[in-house]
Parts: sequence; C-alpha cells; structure tokens
Amino acid sequence: MLKRLKPLILCAISAVALAVASPAGAAEVLADGTSLTRVNGAVELSIALSAPTPFRTFTLDSPRRLVVDLGETSLEAMPRGLSSAIPEVSALRFGLFQLGQSRIVLDLAVPMVIESAVATKDARIHIRLVSASAADFAVAAIAPPAALWRPEQLASSVEGAEGLPLIALDAGHGGIDNGAQRDGVSEKDITLQMARMLRDVLLEDGHYRVILTRDRDIYIPLGERVEIARRAGARAFVSLHADVVTLGRARGTTVFSLSEAGESQQAVTIATLENRSDLVAGISVEGEDDQLTQVLLQMAHRQTDALSNRFADTMAEALWVYNDKEIKSRRMAAGFRVLRAPDIPSVLIELGFMSDKSDLENLQDPEWQLSMAENLLHGLNLWMKVEKDMRGLLRN
Ligand SMILES: [Zn+2]
Repeated sequence: MLKRLKPLILCAISAVALAVASPAGAAEVLADGTSLTRVNGAVELSIALSAPTPFRTFTLDSPRRLVVDLGETSLEAMPRGLSSAIPEVSALRFGLFQLGQSRIVLDLAVPMVIESAVATKDARIHIRLVSASAADFAVAAIAPPAALWRPEQLASSVEGAEGLPLIALDAGHGGIDNGAQRDGVSEKDITLQMARMLRDVLLEDGHYRVILTRDRDIYIPLGERVEIARRAGARAFVSLHADVVTLGRARGTTVFSLSEAGESQQAVTIATLENRSDLVAGISVEGEDDQLTQVLLQMAHRQTDALSNRFADTMAEALWVYNDKEIKSRRMAAGFRVLRAPDIPSVLIELGFMSDKSDLENLQDPEWQLSMAENLLHGLNLWMKVEKDMRGLLRN
C-alpha cells in the first residue's frame, strides 16, 4: 500500500562529507556489478562502488525522474546504454552535480516509486522501483531540501587587475548536463574550452577582469549562474553555447538577448533547449528557482533590457565584421532563463551549431576558437564604448 511516501534519504550527506570529498579520495562506480534490470514487473538499479559513499535517492515529477545522489564519485566506468532494454526507463545520465556530489538520473517512461533503497556492506547500492498510479507517483515525488545547494562551495574567483570592468563568462551546461551532443562531442566541453580561451584573451588584453561561472565539468543551475555574476558585481554577462538545431538549418554565430515573446520559432526552440538544463540535471524548476526568477524579473529595470538589446546588437555587428566572411552572425531574441539578471546587460551566444558539419569542425579547432575569442574581445571593446555613451544618455 502506498501512502505518503517521503523521499528516501537513507544516508544523510553531511556538510563535512560534502566539503572534504575530493576526486583523489573519491569512490568509483565499477562496471562489473552495475546493472539495470527488470524483475517481476519491478525495475532494479544496482550500483557497484569501489568504496562506500553516502547516497540518497528520490523521485521528481514533470517530467518523471528518479535521482540518485552520491558523495563525489567517479562515474567514468558507468556502463553506457543501461536503459536501452528497459522500456520503463527512457534515458539514464550521470555526472558531477556540484562539488562533492555526483548524480545519476533515470527518466521514467511510466510512473514508478521507490520500494526500497539499500546500501550493502560490500559498497553496493540496490534501488527497487515498482509501478504506481500517476497520483501515487505525484505524492511520492518531493524535491529534497534546497539547502543541499551551497553557493560557497563554488570555486569561482575574479581574475584581473582591480578597478577594471568585470566580465562574467558562462560556459553553458556542465556536469550531468552535457548540452547538445553530436559525433561523440559534448557541448559542455566546447563551451568550457571557449570560456577559458576567452578568459585568457581578455586577461592578456589587460582591460578587463573576468569571472567564470564554472571552470570545471560541473553542473550549475541557471539561476545560480546569474547570481554568481551579480555577487561578483559583473558589468556584463556572456553565456556561451553551441547547440544542435533540428528545426531549419542553422550555421554560424547567433547572438541572443532576452525577450519574453521570442522572435521566431527557431529562437523559441533554442531557448527551450537551453532552459531544459535544470530539468536535465534533476532540479525541480517549479520550486524556488522559479520564484527567484519571478522576483528577479519584477525587479528588472527597463534600462537593463535596453542595454542588453544594444549589447547583443553590438556583439552581432562586431562578429559580422570580424568573423569568417562566409558565415555571417545573426541576431535573435528569446526567453532564456540565464539572461534574466535584472541589473547586468546579458547576452547568450551560440558560437556555432554542432548540427552543422563545418561549424562542428570549427568549434573543436583551437585556432578557430582563438580567433573567435579575439572577435568576441573586439565586440566587448566596442560594447564598453557604446555602453558608456548609452548610460550617459540614460542618465540625462
Ligand atoms: Zn546550450
């Protein structure tokens, strides 16, 4: 009988355990003994580990997911394609969720609840899921306390000489959220390479300070990316992406600003893809993150929107001039959650599209990456001048 199933928090991850877990001492998932099987209508997930590690598991609704959190654990040996023969599980993904915490997420094709979740002495975790009605699933699906997310764990730091304008560079996706994938290449790796490259170019130029929202392969919620930039006092926010487009053909660089309406179907499709990041990572977006976003939106001043639009125009113009003549930059707008800082001019740049063969080659080419970073520097230099004039006009 299923009554008010509370999320199963079987082994509380203490603050200490999270803070001290390091990759060096981390447990590893072992391929041998890790499996996903169907047993008499139930689905069983077994995870074999090299050493015992704290874990907890819970389910989330809309869409239906099972989340397994582990103390920082290497997931490199996790077998691929575990879910392919299990119709109840439509996808399985995993990765570093935040410092000291790894996460495995199963997308459930049908409502299933956790019947049992146990760790054995030989460092194995067994989770048994049984089918349930949609109503019972909804009752059982409760997000864990938000306190688990601790911003102070983030390693973001400002680089560059004091007094210079601070640019926040946001490498899209990361950790459990791979972003787009094509031919074995993950968007999260390209965006991180580009963010680091652009950071180096900006620091070498000597006119900027830089903060990265992430400097490693880690998942960071969209709202938190904005907060990192705000806490640091960023003057501009640049989110870097390289997606796969299934609607129409997209090629070359596209610069986006925030628009609640969305200009074109393709812009709306791309925004929807980017906004999925929190869902992919197993965060309940109907929760406080959305409330935070609402508050931020209410606070939002028209001035920032005007500045963001002009910022995006300026970047697109600069890229139009400096980019490869064959591939012109485009300018679009849509409802990106990561562009909702109320007080920082923000743009999202799709550097290229992994769905385009030549873009995909470029995106992986260090020489192309460097020239793109230099073009973005030209754009930022231009924007600093334009912004100064614009703020002067807005003040008068
Ligand atoms: Zn993306």
